[in-house]
Amino acid sequence: MNAVAAAARPIALFDMKAQQRLIREELDRRIAHVLDSGRFVQGPEVDELESKLAGFAGCAHAVGVSSGTDALQIVMMGEGVGRGDAVFLPAFTYTATAEVPLVLGATPVFVDVEPGTFNIDIADLKRRIAAVKAEGKLRPRAVIGVDLFGLPADWPAIERICAEEGMFALDDAAQAFGAALDGKRLGRWGGAAALSFYPTKTLGCYGDGGAILTDSAEKAELYRSLRTHGEGKQRYEVLRTGMNGRLDTIQAAVLLCKLPLFEEELRSRARAAGWYADRLGGKVQLQQVRDGAESAWGLYSILLPDTAARTRVQEACKAAAVPTGVYYPLPLHAQPAYRDHHAGRPALPVSEMLCTRILSLPMHPYLDEEQVDRVSQAVLSAL
Ligand SMILES: *Cc1c(COP(=O)(O)O)cnc(C)c1O
Repeated sequence: MNAVAAAARPIALFDMKAQQRLIREELDRRIAHVLDSGRFVQGPEVDELESKLAGFAGCAHAVGVSSGTDALQIVMMGEGVGRGDAVFLPAFTYTATAEVPLVLGATPVFVDVEPGTFNIDIADLKRRIAAVKAEGKLRPRAVIGVDLFGLPADWPAIERICAEEGMFALDDAAQAFGAALDGKRLGRWGGAAALSFYPTKTLGCYGDGGAILTDSAEKAELYRSLRTHGEGKQRYEVLRTGMNGRLDTIQAAVLLCKLPLFEEELRSRARAAGWYADRLGGKVQLQQVRDGAESAWGLYSILLPDTAARTRVQEACKAAAVPTGVYYPLPLHAQPAYRDHHAGRPALPVSEMLCTRILSLPMHPYLDEEQVDRVSQAVLSAL
């Protein structure tokens, strides 16, 4: 493709337009159906979506909720997590992971991540659980593992530690729906998995939405109650303190239109990741995919040698009309809202290092090889 034609094909960091063109008629039909039915909350589309999500992940139950954050919160409420509880989570993740324990009165304990996978470091997790036990002030209650950028965390190890310590393992799979580990899709790891359908996630709706996946029928019923104000089997019977965490019918309808494309979109993301690896591997550090893991490639993130190199690459990309993003500029333990909770605890050097060097490149299912080439050339031109 020549430069003029290339300029006519702008590259998006996330592309929701190409997909929408493919399903626009079906979207219009499905949304019109919801408008006609008038069942805007908990309509039949929500039930249909729940059974299809569970089928896709290979787990027994899916519970549609209002966002990924609410999915995390409902699971933690279901475990009774609250004051006096320690919830262990990586320092290098989106803010929602830490916000949820705090909203419930629990204390987040930040854990460092691995320099290769960017996911929670199991040795550091063990050290921090031991330290909390030795202090004797907080009860170790849960680990929230995050599948950062779509890559599954070390779930066999997290599950083992949680079983040994009597803790709950919650999978924050908000960036990773569709990913698998050892042949099992996320949704079957940990006690429950939280999904986000925020528009830029691997499966996104046109607003906020989320879901909880679990194999436990009892927990699924509890989550359904919690998302509807703690309601019992009878309407207006309140069994427990819950919240308003329902998924809108229109968002479920949107997701039902997108789900038939999803399997193929995951393959397209993996193909784009392969093109990047061919061009950038050995020249910049890539996220290392652990053995047995299939990433959902929610984001494609590279590590530059230092902040100055990252700034140069960002500028070269900008000049080439290639959008980039920094996920995340600050580790959570350094955020003004959270740093007091980390006071007195050992440093998190890998999380801090990653924030100074990480850069995310365009990643979506509708990237073609020429576009990946253009992005890679812009990156390499600045090194
Ligand atoms: C997006 C995200 C969430 C929150 O999901 P929302 O649907 O935006 O509430 C939680 N955790 C991680 C890791 C995320 O990336």
